[in-house]
Amino acid sequence: MPKRRTSKSLAAHREALEYFPGGVNSPVRAFGRVGGNPPFLARGKGAVVWDLDGNSYLDFVGSWGPLILGHAHPKVIRAIESAARKGTTFGAPTTAETALAREIRRRMPSLERMRFVSSGTEAAMSALRLARGTTGRPKILKFEGCYHGHADSLLVKAGSGALTFGAPDSAGVLEDVARQTLVAQYNDLESAAGLFARHGREIACVLVEPIAGNMGVVAPLPEFLPGLRALCDRNGALLIFDEVITGFRVHPGGAQALYGVRPDLTCLGKIVGGGLPLGVYGGRADLLAQISPEGPVYQAGTLSGNPLAVAAGLAVLKELTPAAYKKLERLSRKFGEALRGEIEDSGAEATLVRVGSLLTLYFSRGPIRGFADVMRSDAGRFKRFFQGALSRGVYLAPSPYEACFVSLAHGEAQIEKAAKAMGEALREVR
Ligand code: PMP
Repeated sequence: MPKRRTSKSLAAHREALEYFPGGVNSPVRAFGRVGGNPPFLARGKGAVVWDLDGNSYLDFVGSWGPLILGHAHPKVIRAIESAARKGTTFGAPTTAETALAREIRRRMPSLERMRFVSSGTEAAMSALRLARGTTGRPKILKFEGCYHGHADSLLVKAGSGALTFGAPDSAGVLEDVARQTLVAQYNDLESAAGLFARHGREIACVLVEPIAGNMGVVAPLPEFLPGLRALCDRNGALLIFDEVITGFRVHPGGAQALYGVRPDLTCLGKIVGGGLPLGVYGGRADLLAQISPEGPVYQAGTLSGNPLAVAAGLAVLKELTPAAYKKLERLSRKFGEALRGEIEDSGAEATLVRVGSLLTLYFSRGPIRGFADVMRSDAGRFKRFFQGALSRGVYLAPSPYEACFVSLAHGEAQIEKAAKAMGEALREVR
């Protein structure tokens, strides 16, 4: 395995540990699941990031999804600079917010009206309150391995960070709260139907990642999302799609357009803020009319609809033309095919799942249909594979239960180079 310089990142991590739990401000960044110390990143440009020690990496994390145009895209930087010159926050309405809302609704017509917040967590938490507030029902139904941010009701069998640390239920979440969260199996309609049979009149909503991304990528089976729509309709529950990852990534209109299923409410984050903190929840106009100040469901935010985030989001959406989506699919397909070739050549027991520009390499034989399949992936081999890729300049998500993201800044030559490096890493851990 090639050696990298690490002394400066190591020193930075040591000092950060004095201030931050794990030396980080979000748990998976600490590299707990893959060992070693996290490189401290100094800058990024396009598909490349550089750490403090001067190592460069081809980045397939992209800040966990927002950077569909890559790092420091000139048009996004210009939009942020221009907005900043006019004032960074007002706590008062601006026309830029309306312009972004118009662009969102044009692409995702199910968001008839919406509310801007500052993170995906806030979007999901608020959508949940709206669902409970409008149906008058207490329970929610989610799926094991799906993550919707860290609100109390949603930190139950919640994938990624929680999975990575082997603590699916966080300390500090009251049992009384967790009890209102029913958990079904992803891609298993019967498990959801069974919960409806028992608790149907108490269930306010079904909340789902239409393409799971937080236990690694898992594609929905053809009948899964339409089946959830029908279950909700039969039982008077709302269907909420958490498109924080998939929104504007898998299709201009998100996973709901890709699969042709219209949710009642949608949560957005990541790409919609262009790399700055912005989340959105929205959907049926009659539901949004229940949000304060029009209705009785309270929700607010000092920095909601922040001018810099809105400007960045608008700049990114403008670049996401039909041609851009074609290019992203071409690059992603090429990456997927090259990786499948490497898996085959190396003889590694591994399965690649790809949905558009979202990919996860599982260290097990497929198919990968749900949480139980994901859990069969060999985390020990992933750890060694991850370090092998990193040492060859490929920066992957530092957990076996995460998605990797291809961006429009990845060039064909970079994709080929990354696949080759990952192939070498695969051969080391076969
Ligand atoms: N929903 C999904 C599907 C996510 O992937 C995430 C974050 N990874 C969230 C919600 C929470 O978003 P945030 O981290 O911005 O709070």
